[in-house]
Amino acid sequence: MLKKIALVLLSFVLMMLSFAPIHVQSSSDAAVTLNDSVDVSFPDYIRFNLKIATEITVEDLRLHYIVERKSYTAVTQEIKVAVPVSSQSNISVNWIWDMRTTGSLPSGTVIRYWWTVSDNNKNLYQSEQSSVRFDDDEYNWQQLNENNVTLHWYYGDDDFAADLMQTCQNALQRLGEDTGAYLESPVRIYIYSSSYALRNAMVFAKEWTGGVAYPAYGVIAIGISNSNIEWSRKALAHELAHLVTYQMTSNPYNDIPVWLNEGISMYAEGELEKDYEYYLKSAVYNDSLISVQSLCSPFSSYSEQSYLSYAESYSIVAYLIEEYGQQKMHQLLTVFKDGSTYNNALLTVYGFDLNALNELWQDYIGQIYVY
Ligand SMILES: [Zn+2]
Repeated sequence: MLKKIALVLLSFVLMMLSFAPIHVQSSSDAAVTLNDSVDVSFPDYIRFNLKIATEITVEDLRLHYIVERKSYTAVTQEIKVAVPVSSQSNISVNWIWDMRTTGSLPSGTVIRYWWTVSDNNKNLYQSEQSSVRFDDDEYNWQQLNENNVTLHWYYGDDDFAADLMQTCQNALQRLGEDTGAYLESPVRIYIYSSSYALRNAMVFAKEWTGGVAYPAYGVIAIGISNSNIEWSRKALAHELAHLVTYQMTSNPYNDIPVWLNEGISMYAEGELEKDYEYYLKSAVYNDSLISVQSLCSPFSSYSEQSYLSYAESYSIVAYLIEEYGQQKMHQLLTVFKDGSTYNNALLTVYGFDLNALNELWQDYIGQIYVY
């Protein structure tokens, strides 16, 4: 979020500074030659370099770039770069996108960019558009592809990768059969050899980060070693389901209830784990269930409440699937994609609102865990 605000502010300030170009000439124009290059250091920075051979008096230099990701408005960032004071016929400038201050991008992200140069007569010269991939080249990555999933891994043997791919395909199959949700576009999964290796490939990693999903980029990065393979399979299915849900429901107007998003991811993991079930059961016995309405908002970070929130989300999604079927769940996701509010989506598809869902589901869960 911080990054988003910083970029919005930056583009706003630059918009205020920008002026309307009088005309555009290409970089091959005899008066100016523009040579651009980039240096990438994942995950910390990208340095954009420009060499200008010119007969003109350069007054204004700008870098323009677009980050490729799923978004509803193509946002072009514009960076005003200082013109060197002693600028003669050859000028070298650069601008460093320091991810340590803005937050980083996931590996494999493509950035399109070009430069513009203006002279003292307000003539505008523009370089050809180029692109750079922000890749983690620390490792010798291998790839495995199947049904819109590309797995990138660098340690372990082919069976290890095949096992993880099977986990992904099983999760996709379970989602497809029970919710009608599927991957509309390709995703990339980067398997690091441990949580430690993953955190080294991130700029703002919390010490407990074991896996991270970037839904708008269609990317997951996760640390998996043989010692945590069981946890890893579940985490992989969970994060992959977040990418599926995002593709099925994202729209410029509204998000979806957190219980639906997390519930689908929990459901994709398979059966609810005993730890989670314990919290769910206890809450039924103690009459301390969190309401469906409350679970529309981000979950509590307190451990017990957090466990219960995830367990309940699983159960609410399982209830909707068991009682009303795959088609209705698919319809619910589709209605959300149109930007519906929570109550309207439920009313449209199931004929009841959040309050009624809360009552119906609490009856259902009460019957499962009878004394
Ligand atoms: Zn989740």
